[in-house]
Amino acid sequence: MTVRLYDSRSQTVTDFVPLIEGEVGIYVCGPTVQSSPHIGHLRSALVYDLWRRWLNYRGYRVTLVRNVTDIDDKILASAAAEHSAETWWALAYRFELEFTAGYAELGILPPTYEPRATASIGQMHELIQRLIDAGHAYPASDSSGDVYFDTSSWPSYGELTRQKLDDMAPAADADPRGKRDARDFALWKGHKATEPESASWPSPWGAGRPGWHLECSAMAARYLGPRFDIHGGGRDLRFPHHENELAQSTAAGDEFANYWVHNGLVNIGGQKMSKSLGNSIYVSEFLSQARPLVVRYYLGSAHYRSTIDYHDGSLVEAEAALERIESFLTRVDRRLDGTTFAGSGAPVIPEAFAAAMDDDLAVPQALAVLHDTMRAGNAALDSDDIETAARIRGEVFAMTDVLGINPLLAPWNAAQSAESTPALARLVERLLADREEARAAKDFAAADRIRDELAGAGIQLEDTPTGTQWSIA
Ligand SMILES: [Zn+2]
Repeated sequence: MTVRLYDSRSQTVTDFVPLIEGEVGIYVCGPTVQSSPHIGHLRSALVYDLWRRWLNYRGYRVTLVRNVTDIDDKILASAAAEHSAETWWALAYRFELEFTAGYAELGILPPTYEPRATASIGQMHELIQRLIDAGHAYPASDSSGDVYFDTSSWPSYGELTRQKLDDMAPAADADPRGKRDARDFALWKGHKATEPESASWPSPWGAGRPGWHLECSAMAARYLGPRFDIHGGGRDLRFPHHENELAQSTAAGDEFANYWVHNGLVNIGGQKMSKSLGNSIYVSEFLSQARPLVVRYYLGSAHYRSTIDYHDGSLVEAEAALERIESFLTRVDRRLDGTTFAGSGAPVIPEAFAAAMDDDLAVPQALAVLHDTMRAGNAALDSDDIETAARIRGEVFAMTDVLGINPLLAPWNAAQSAESTPALARLVERLLADREEARAAKDFAAADRIRDELAGAGIQLEDTPTGTQWSIA
């Protein structure tokens, strides 16, 4: 019953041991809100949603902090490129709302707290000051107003990604002229005349704004403390972003994250999605191809560390898998029709499913258990073993619930309520009874006419040994 996870720092799958019994603190790097969300952003948020749900199921109280980077070079560049009257902060908020809507569409629960970088400037100043005091940061030697982290002063710099300082490329985030070493990176960026006044804050080193890496270190410590359980983010953030977060925080005396978890990216036809390649699939586009529940199933069904390679047809497989879940639940509920068996319909997660999820969140193996279980459930229905079918319904209900893909539960149940509308069910049942009567009287023309009328209204019939089942096509 121990949850195990792949810790990117030690590069091993290891037992998760919380700092505080029964509690988990997770910090996840959220998006830089410079443009509309693409499916890679949603996948990342979904991965930590699944971790959170599973840890919750295992009895942990989870505090999930996912930040919003609302001040950054890229946001200022986006606002400048649009040549409109929209300020950088209005642009950031506009895209932040798009992210929030995308998460909600996929049933990704809001984090416990979602701090914006611009609301923690004071904590960032404090962290920079501690680094300067400890001899690990210095103000630029030119008049830029920048402050840099002194990479050569920190022997363990590079430990997260197992790189030696000598092998590292220069940090391209600031003018190298003010740096002692080209690999030093900016903690504070002095205000430039070309940037809007509103994008600068007063500081002991001159007006300016925080460096991206520093933002996360300050927010993680502010909301989870100097030491916390899990730091998450996309695999592409390992270097320099996470390496720099780790260096800053530990050099300032914080112990920082106990485990590092990294999720895989989404490729398009074998290529990395990127703005410069113009091959990004935006969330709005994706959601026009399939229902949100299908998108959630698709993005969540791969192992969280694997790369998802999206290609045409990917969503079709997810749709088919979901239809199997929906048709099983519809079929078993119609067959049970309110019949209950003592304890047999209770939501219970099968051991094999739980073992897969405990093993570094092995969702593909867990889904295999789900589909095997449903096959057994359908077989039980075929052989009229209602009690077994009821028990299996409870298992399917529980497994899909913990994955956030239970079609009978919020936020998905509204979409498929048509089949559970009593008025519709009564009308269909009535027509099915008429059809039965016609067949009994060998009036096959009348029976076929009823079936065709139902088909014309989008209602499919399936004659089984235990009677006729119906569903909305
Ligand atoms: Zn971060």
